[in-house]
Amino acid sequence: MVKETKLYDTLGISPSATEQELKKAYKQNALKYHPDKNAHNPAAEEKFKEISHAYEILSDPQKRQIYDQYGEAGLEGGAGGGGMAAEDLFAQFFGGGSFGGGLGGMFSGMNHQRGPQKAKTIFHTHNVSLEDIYRGKVSKLALQRSIICPKCEGRGGKEGSVRRCAGCDGHGMKTMMRQMGPMIQRFQTVCPDCNGEGEIFKDKDRCKQCLGKKTVVDRKVLHVHVDRGVKSGTKVEFRGEGDQAPGILAGDVVFQIEQKPHPRFTRRDDDLLYHAEIELVTALAGGTIYIEHLDERWLAVDILPGEAIGHNTVKMIRGQGMPSYRHHDFGNMYIQFTVKFPEKNWTQDPAAFDALRKILPAPALVNIPPAEATSDPADLEDVEGDSSKGFGGDAMDEDDEPQGDRVQCASQ
Ligand SMILES: [Zn+2]
Ligand SMILES: [Zn+2]
Repeated sequence: MVKETKLYDTLGISPSATEQELKKAYKQNALKYHPDKNAHNPAAEEKFKEISHAYEILSDPQKRQIYDQYGEAGLEGGAGGGGMAAEDLFAQFFGGGSFGGGLGGMFSGMNHQRGPQKAKTIFHTHNVSLEDIYRGKVSKLALQRSIICPKCEGRGGKEGSVRRCAGCDGHGMKTMMRQMGPMIQRFQTVCPDCNGEGEIFKDKDRCKQCLGKKTVVDRKVLHVHVDRGVKSGTKVEFRGEGDQAPGILAGDVVFQIEQKPHPRFTRRDDDLLYHAEIELVTALAGGTIYIEHLDERWLAVDILPGEAIGHNTVKMIRGQGMPSYRHHDFGNMYIQFTVKFPEKNWTQDPAAFDALRKILPAPALVNIPPAEATSDPADLEDVEGDSSKGFGGDAMDEDDEPQGDRVQCASQ
């Protein structure tokens, strides 16, 4: 009698299926729903993950037994949802690095209603370049973990030679008494006979490989799939691939994907923000700018003559943003322009100024004083340091420029 059948249903087998039937079911389903064969069917990808998850658990005799007995809740630390928050909390309370005998044993009473105890989750932040997120990749990451000593199978010594510690009756902790003047104080301490292990064996029977520690350090390479368009903060979980210790479930390994800052682009969800500096002549008379994309392509962007790109104008190139994780399309690329004016005294040729006056639209006649007012001559002087000081820099009017807000940070 099993607690629930969801994982069996996922694979289309009965809870009494043999190992052989399980393997066969996995093989058939995995081939059918593999993302490579279902490029235009996002539901298949979900199904594929479910199949893999079900098989991962049911193919491990220990996990399958726990699943049959407690359901999925038992495998996920009892909270039921399986979310990382619950998992973290659980690890913090009951893992804490001191699992095994000793202090871990003290918590077992509090623990037994929440499913079997589990080793603490190994958490690692995986920093990925924007290029790799754009194209997708598989990172091979090596992990140092503790595994049950293969030589003694976690006993720490020769089979049959391990004895329960008589000093603490196997608890690892011992109640001691101490005379303090007229009072006798009782206190708990780690058992000195067995160092809190609860077990002892003779030196000659001690395992040569783990030296009685029951676990050894192992190096494991995990393949972390960085999916195209994956968002920062996404967690990739490997259940049961973390630390092992005698008497508890193997811990999980969790990689959190974080995007490294990029020198050219800022990412906002599926959109890319790019900052382009153009010359005044290009803004007015047109020209081509080139943008190096994330996959070695270069975009040639034409600025049309007469477009008159103003300072801080934002334009958009459709479909040149990031691949979206779920919908199999692309976000947009937003370009914020900075218009670079010529240097002071770029020309002293009066003919050039006359030509400009003829070409450019005439200034509007505003702020002309009434005829009876006197206007004193005033000279313009250069300002030392930051000339925008006190004017709030390049603040844009948000009412006039709806895109201003989301692109503001692109250059700052
Ligand atoms: Zn002891
Ligand atoms: Zn050993």
